[in-house]
Amino acid sequence: MNNKTLAIIKPDAVNDNYIGEIISLICKAGFKIKALKMIKLSQEAAKAFYEIHKNKPFYNDLVEYMTSGPCVPIALEKENAVEDYRKLIGATDPAKAAEGTVRKLYARSVQYNAVHGSDSDENAAKEIAFFFANKELIENYPA
Ligand code: UDP
Ligand code: MG
Repeated sequence: MNNKTLAIIKPDAVNDNYIGEIISLICKAGFKIKALKMIKLSQEAAKAFYEIHKNKPFYNDLVEYMTSGPCVPIALEKENAVEDYRKLIGATDPAKAAEGTVRKLYARSVQYNAVHGSDSDENAAKEIAFFFANKELIENYPA
């Protein structure tokens, strides 16, 4: 699974009408979309997705934010996907993100930071499975 990662265009970026721009940057960076959908997370789902952060001071606010509107999870494929995608999106805090990164361009703040990216191959596999059934991942295209 070391060629896949999970991206999410978060509710702030959807609300700010950045879906198209963000997908364009992702595709131009050489990632292939394997699956994509728009979904409004329930409280239960957001809590489960961010379970790893449940003891962090920002957890409750994070769950509120991620349930505040629709988001767009995207399963991506590329060699070295996890690391390359995190490079593309930049630091968690947009104030610290490099020029030209997705968060520098489109995030509002460290909390409302436009996009999610998996942090390891192991978590990428889990996070893709959280949103997509195996059969929803498109294989072998373009033909
Ligand atoms: N977050 C926050 N305050 C913080 C750190 C993180 O609100 O001080 C939010 C932010 O939306 C971030 C998410 O919690 O994307 C998950 O945090 P993580 O440390 O995993 O950052 P990421 O992997 O998204 O860069
Ligand atoms: Mg993280």
